[in-house]
Amino acid sequence: MITANQYFRKVFGHKMYKASITLCVTCPNRDGSKGTGGCIFCSEGGSGEFSISGISVTDQIRQAIEKVRDKAGDDAGYIAYFQSFTNTYCDPGYLENVLNEASSCDGIEAVSVATRPDCLGPDILAVLKKQAERMPLFVELGLQTSSDETAEFINRCYRTSEYISAVKALKEIGANVITHIIFGLPGETRDIMMDTVKLSVDAGSDGYKFTCLYVLENTPLADLYRDNKVEILGMEEYFDIVEEAVKLLPEDAVVHRLTGDGPKKILIAPEWTKNKRQVVNYINRRFGL
Ligand code: SF4
Repeated sequence: MITANQYFRKVFGHKMYKASITLCVTCPNRDGSKGTGGCIFCSEGGSGEFSISGISVTDQIRQAIEKVRDKAGDDAGYIAYFQSFTNTYCDPGYLENVLNEASSCDGIEAVSVATRPDCLGPDILAVLKKQAERMPLFVELGLQTSSDETAEFINRCYRTSEYISAVKALKEIGANVITHIIFGLPGETRDIMMDTVKLSVDAGSDGYKFTCLYVLENTPLADLYRDNKVEILGMEEYFDIVEEAVKLLPEDAVVHRLTGDGPKKILIAPEWTKNKRQVVNYINRRFGL
């Protein structure tokens, strides 16, 4: 397993920090084109609670860099991170403009775009290809599970076969693909979770972001949790699963995240994730980082 830090140092020669950007976009399972309400675990912020919206891309990047500059030091680089919602669910011209704007900002050495596999049509791929020719491009795909049954339950609204095709298409245009996987989704056994990991390895994903299932306020999952219809993983149990998953990855796979960082203000469960220091210490001990 290669950590994101190790990978970034090798590729860019220094530490990389993310500057999060929120665009005025939504998701096809939110706006009614494929579904409404979004994925059952997803908050109103579309997984981007920590970023700022309503201001220009340049200003969002400036503010994000300013926040970490002291900690980052002078020789750090930055990744413009289009984090919230589905960032390719928009007009290709708009996407091209915001990518151009982000790439021209001081300190930006790479771009990362979070999206869904079903929002990567030929025009969007052409824009992403241009971007990948300019600087390293990461495309983060929210797979969460390879089980179409679970996907239906969580209201993902695309089929796993679309993920497989998307990884192939993205690799053909020179993008580095990072797959998001959630462990502990309702009804999933350990075998199903490992099937998800195996499927993304076979599809050719370059990197991984693992997270446990979070229960956030004002989500359909919160209602299920309060009705005792959902079980949440304990810390040891979750990292047992992560350890098993990591063993399935090729040696050169980059693990960008071993667990997520749920927005505390709206986090209902799991409680153990609230003590970030304890989690980080546990990860460092257990995974020898
Ligand atoms: S596709 Fe992503 S941003 Fe959209 S509802 Fe699902 S998890 Fe949230």
